[in-house]
Amino acid sequence: MLSPSPFDAIILGAGAAGLFCAAIAGQRGKQVLVIDHADAPGKKILISGGGRCNFTNIHTQADRYLSANPHFAKSALGRYSPQDFINLVDAHGIAWHEKTLGQLFCDGSAKQIVAMLLDECDKGGVTIALGHAIRVVEHADGRYRVSCGDRSAEAPALVIATGGPSIPKMGATGFAYDLARQFGLKVVEPRPALVPLTLGGDETLFRSLSGVATDVVARAGKALFREAALFTHKGLSGPAILQVSSYWRHGEPVAINFLPDAAPGWLTQAKRQQPRATLRSTLGAMLPDRLAATLSDRIGGDARLADTPDRVLGEAERRLSSWTFHPNGTEGYAKAEVTAGGISTDGLSSQTMEARKVPGLYAIGEAVDVTGWLGGYNFQWAWASGHAAAAAI
Ligand SMILES: Cc1cc2nc3c(=O)[nH]c(=O)nc-3n(C[C@H](O)[C@H](O)[C@H](O)COP(=O)(O)OP(=O)(O)OC[C@H]3O[C@@H](n4cnc5c(N)ncnc54)[C@H](O)[C@@H]3O)c2cc1C
Repeated sequence: MLSPSPFDAIILGAGAAGLFCAAIAGQRGKQVLVIDHADAPGKKILISGGGRCNFTNIHTQADRYLSANPHFAKSALGRYSPQDFINLVDAHGIAWHEKTLGQLFCDGSAKQIVAMLLDECDKGGVTIALGHAIRVVEHADGRYRVSCGDRSAEAPALVIATGGPSIPKMGATGFAYDLARQFGLKVVEPRPALVPLTLGGDETLFRSLSGVATDVVARAGKALFREAALFTHKGLSGPAILQVSSYWRHGEPVAINFLPDAAPGWLTQAKRQQPRATLRSTLGAMLPDRLAATLSDRIGGDARLADTPDRVLGEAERRLSSWTFHPNGTEGYAKAEVTAGGISTDGLSSQTMEARKVPGLYAIGEAVDVTGWLGGYNFQWAWASGHAAAAAI
């Protein structure tokens, strides 16, 4: 790998952000070296979107990202849009479709996106060095020197694109944070995000619903998502739960509206229309059977509606529209689709991703404290931040 030819930039990480940044910089005439410890590039892309890669979201805007600085992502996202990436995908003849909520997936396979990125790197004459564990990174006289074993490479620009620690069995590490700290950049406490939540104590009983899914509105703090929730043998998952997990903090409740389409007063109305029905049978017509049984058991719903006072029905309705779970944790980095937190945006330029106080040092992608919602937003950030850095190198 580490050839004697002088590089203009070394990019650490051959993932989504690193490959894209390398391709653009290379096509701008820069000599680029990408180093990764994995034996293949873009491994997370390959497993993304169930193997079909949800490569962007047409509703991308900065308010769909979590960051200590909610404005930081605006500039890069504004300068490289979902349409820009769609144009590239189209130019490579990759067929795609919108699945739901603006999420674009390959019709075929995520392999096509990796092949496209490698092809673009090729056009830019990018050198990709795989299977290289990075030992030391030094900075002197305006140059960065990266050592891997007994070999090394140098360049005036270094891009941190090694992502976050989610899914460590795929080679994910917190290396980006160590490197950032080495150069005096702050790191916002990382935490697993887009991750299933676990239930314990009194709520362990809900685990018996494992496999049951239903459309809900889930809420954690002020964040609110309408999508499917799924009960698992450890607790709660499904898109609505993954979305709120990014906002959830230990000790806080998660509220679920199991009947988001029910009009206020629906239960007292049901009593007038079907007085002989029970809460359980009424719920059974609206929710998966096992869920209806568990919820009505907990509310005490075997009495006929006709025999239940309106006040009690009103209280049941309130509970069903804001059922409070108290998760005791998450399934952690092993199951987290992304890592929230990361290299603080305080020390980075939002225009170029360059460290303000360390000329030539850049950070892009998931390594940075910018975390997207579920649905293609994280890849769009990888492309946009990679593009911003590539234009500045
Ligand atoms: C199961 C799963 C499904 C997902 N599906 C989607 C989806 O459909 N849509 C979406 O938008 N997002 C999805 N994501 C999130 C998305 O994959 C990431 O946000 C995105 O890959 C981040 O890009 P990145 O380049 O910053 O980091 P990564 O793609 O993680 O790349 C980092 C690279 O750095 C390398 N690296 C790490 N540490 C070191 C080290 N110490 N030395 C050398 N190299 C190192 C890694 O090997 C890797 O190649 C999914 C994530 C997972 C886990």
